This record gives sequence, structure tokens and C-alpha cells, in this order.
Amino acid sequence: LSQNEKLFQAIQSLIRSPDFEMLSPAQKKIIENDLRDFRLAGVHLPADQKERMATLQKELTQLMTKYSENVMDATQSWTLHITDPYQLEGLPPQALQLAIDNAKRRGLEGYVFTLDYPSYSTAVRFLRDRELRKQLYEAYSTRASDQGPMAGKWDNTAIMEKILKVRHEIAQLVGFKNYAEYSLATKMAKTPDEVLHFLHDLLIRSKAIAEKEYEEVRQLAKSLDNLSALEIWDVSYYSEKLQELKFKFSQEDFRPYFPIQKVLDGMFTLVNKLYGIHIREEKNIEVWHPHVRFFSIHDDKNELRGGFYIDLYARPHKRDGAWMDECRVRRLLDGKGIQHPIAYLTCNFMPPVDGLPGLLTHDDVLTLFHEFGHCLHHMLTKVDYPSVAGINGVPWDAVEFPSQFMENYCWEKESLSLISGHYETGEPLPDELYQKMIAAKHFQTGLQMVRQLEFAIFDFRLHLEYDPAKSGEGEPQTQLILNDVRKNTSVIPVPAFNRFQHSFSHVFAGSYAAGYYSYKWAEVLSSDAYAKFEEQGIFDRKTGRAFMENILEMGGVRDPMSAFIAFRGREPTIDALLKQNGITKRTAA
Ligand code: ZN
Repeated sequence: LSQNEKLFQAIQSLIRSPDFEMLSPAQKKIIENDLRDFRLAGVHLPADQKERMATLQKELTQLMTKYSENVMDATQSWTLHITDPYQLEGLPPQALQLAIDNAKRRGLEGYVFTLDYPSYSTAVRFLRDRELRKQLYEAYSTRASDQGPMAGKWDNTAIMEKILKVRHEIAQLVGFKNYAEYSLATKMAKTPDEVLHFLHDLLIRSKAIAEKEYEEVRQLAKSLDNLSALEIWDVSYYSEKLQELKFKFSQEDFRPYFPIQKVLDGMFTLVNKLYGIHIREEKNIEVWHPHVRFFSIHDDKNELRGGFYIDLYARPHKRDGAWMDECRVRRLLDGKGIQHPIAYLTCNFMPPVDGLPGLLTHDDVLTLFHEFGHCLHHMLTKVDYPSVAGINGVPWDAVEFPSQFMENYCWEKESLSLISGHYETGEPLPDELYQKMIAAKHFQTGLQMVRQLEFAIFDFRLHLEYDPAKSGEGEPQTQLILNDVRKNTSVIPVPAFNRFQHSFSHVFAGSYAAGYYSYKWAEVLSSDAYAKFEEQGIFDRKTGRAFMENILEMGGVRDPMSAFIAFRGREPTIDALLKQNGITKRTAA
């Protein structure tokens, strides 16, 4: 369809007709987007090249699926089986219970650790046994590669090379120099220089702080355990120790105060205050697993606006990470009302164990709020045309704006009193723990920033610099470019066996190719927008309404920059983000 010339001409005739001006902004936007997408799909090309384009698109889809399957197979297949409980010193009770459950499910005695993220990340943060941490790190960081314990078994090396080659050819077929330029044709950022400048600007302002933070971890490892050479599999462990020492709490301390039902009820009350919407559970909707629940949303006029499924806990063979997706999109139904949008909200939290309710860490709560922000963007839209309704038609670098915006509410005392309550006593998050949490908010933000910038610069340069002529000779370009990026970004030395790129699914099996920078780009929007709430009051209904009308309801109809300006009264600046991360203040100090 996207290569059909007659269709292209028909749609082009709409834009040239005098009636075009009478169309609604949504209708105009759809036509403009369509014409752009026709060109990106190669509608102008001669028949043989059109055919080539279709073949490449199909090939790309297959390659990305294969990449993703390899990552999943590698993640599922490796386990660490321990029978001696003395080896598990340091592990918190809930993680220990999960390891026991994992073993039981496999008919084994003792404890089993998997590469599912909750199991893996908790183990490397807490296990005192350095050798076990190393084994886990090695298996995790070499998934689907030529290295590590599963070397060559689900190796993505050749698949990544092919993905880059296909993307490059697609971009060149329709007149771009490379895939990075092709990617920007549908984004808020306009040129590769603009993106790289933006990322390097953040890097320059964060790197020194990241180095200082790393040095602090190194010093602690030396003073606690006389560790002379800190390895990457030690960093999470000693960072956790440093955090405990500095702030005397760990993420695990939060779990009792964040039982899932309390968090959900509080989050729903919070969006009621902001936007006047009402959320309630619908028990008569069919679900695919007993953990899954369904909720509906009504607005302040009691009109149905949408609904969503939530599927919160990790289980075998479930796709990892946290994400949302559309189940149904808002649309007109043949003149008889509208179909309401439905979303999926998916997380991989540690499942409830042994009669306890599901208990979340503060990080989990942030994740939940983030994904819920995406869901609200999808569900609160007032646009009746699917291609520009909700999250559709929104440029990738603005799509994380509403989700990152929601995270701000996980740090405010006023909202925490809504979402927290001890699962036994109902006691809200104690002030002492809150004060520590706020003090720790900026813990290692420099390291986190630099890590995200490394991913973003790697992804962008990969799609900007990839050269098919160099393909197949010597070390893969993915590795060469990553090594080169790390020269500037790396604060923590990475072992030669690390194959992070082989499970970088956002970029190789998702929609973030030459677009991973979008997370940071959108953070600038979200932190600057939230600054307005800080000025007006975080539950200020008028500001909430303005945010809902200008951002959440608009879908992809309005240019994100003009929507932002309509809400904020000016263009966004990088300063609110640096301040939010505590980087500005510490640079000055
Ligand atoms: Zn997101």
C-alpha cells in the first residue's frame, strides 16, 4: 500500500484541493504524514527498486524477530544452581525465596538463579560471593553472542550485521546518506549534528561527576574488603553497600511500604486529582493469566475514555522488561460513537511469594508510573483517527515525555502519602526513610547519565557511520564503534568478553534504531514541564488540565514543540533536567 502510486496521487490531490483548508487539524496531519511515509517507502522509485524495498522491509522484520528470539532463548536457557546456602550470604529474604521457588519449579534441591532481570539484578547487587557475581555477570552480559558460557549458541553477531546492512540500504534507496538521517525524518530533532551535539553536551556536563562517583565505589571496596582492582561485577554490589552506608537503607527496605494494591489505588487517586479521571477494576473481563487485571477509565463528566490490562509479575517465557502497548486504539465507529482505547501495561516485578502480597521497591514504583504515563497518553486521547490518536504519530523522541513526566510524582511527599502503606500495619512511608530516599535521589546519577549517553551515542553513531563496504572484514563494526564510543563515555572499565550490544533489543529488535537518544531528549521535555507544576503546585488542577489538553489529549496531531510551548509558554531548556539529576548543583559546588 505504501508504494501504491495511484493511492499516493489520490492523497496528494487532497492536499492540493481547496477543501484541504476545511479539514480538521487531525485530518490534515494524517494527510501530511501519509505523503511523508509514501516517500519514505519509496513511492517514487522505479518498479525494480520498489520491489527491492519491499524485500528489504520483510527481511528486516524477520531479522529483528530472530534477534529477539535469540535473546529470549539465551536468557531462558542458562541457570545457576546452588545447593550450599552459605554461598548465598547477603541475599535478601524475598530473593532467597524466589531462588527456592525457581529450584522447586525445576524439580531441584536448593536454589536456582536465572537471567530474568529481577533474579539477575538482585543477585549481583547482594551476593557476597564474588565468584558467583562474576559467573552471573558473564552469562548475562554475553547473552546471544560468541562469548561466555553459551558462546555461539544463539549468536546475534551476523544478524546484527545484516540488520545494519538492510537498514542502510533502505535509507539510501529513498535518498538518505544513512539510516540515522532516515530515522530523523520522522522525529522532533532535525539533524544528526543536533542529536550528537545534544548528547555530547550532556556528557560533558556529567562525566566528571560520574568519575567521582566511581572513585567512591572503588575506595569503599578497598576499605571494606581490601579489593585492589574493582571489576564490573563488583560495582552493583559495592554501590549497594555504599548506598546503605551513606543513606542506611536499600531498595529492599521499601518493599513492605509499597504493597501493589496500595500503590495502584494511590496512583489512581493521584491522576484523579490531576485530571479528574476515575479508574475502577472490571472483574468480568477475560484475562490470559491469573495475575492479569483489567481497569476502566471515566472522565469528570462520567464518560468512558478507555481501559487497560495490567500484567505485573515476572514468569517464565514472558517478554522481559517493562512496557506498554496498544490493544485497541480510539476510532470512530461508522457514525455510531467511538471505539475506546485499550492499553496493555506490562512489568516484570518479583512475583508475590509465600502468602505475601506483591511488594514493590521504589524503583519498581517508578517503573509502574512510567508505563502508566504511556498508557494515559494512549487512553486519554481525544483524537478519533487511529494513525494520530494517543501515542500514534507522536515522534519517537517525544513519546517518552508523558511517561517520564509521571515519574516525578514518585518523589513527592504529598503523592507518596497516597501510594504507600505498610502491608501489615498500613503505616505510610516513614519520614525517616523518605528523607534518606530524597538524600539518595542523586546517588550515582552521573554514572547513570553517562551509561544512558553511551547507549544513545553508540546507537546513533552506529546508524550514522555504518559502512557496508567494511562489512565482513575483521572485527564487526558494531564492536569497533562501541569500543570507540566507550573511549569517551566509559567510566567503568568493561571486560573484553562483554557483548552488551547482542541483547540491545531496543535498537536491534525494537523501534529505537538511531532513536535511543529519545529517552534523554524527552527527559528534557518532561523535567521542564514538571517544573511548571513545581511552580504552580504539584496537584494544581488548572495546570493538570492544561497538561491533559495540550499534551495527553493531542495524540500526534500537533507538532510536539508547539504543544510544549502552548503548555509551558516557552521552548524547553536542558537546565531543568540537570537540576533534577542534581548535576548542576554539584558541578557548581
Ligand atoms: Zn517508556
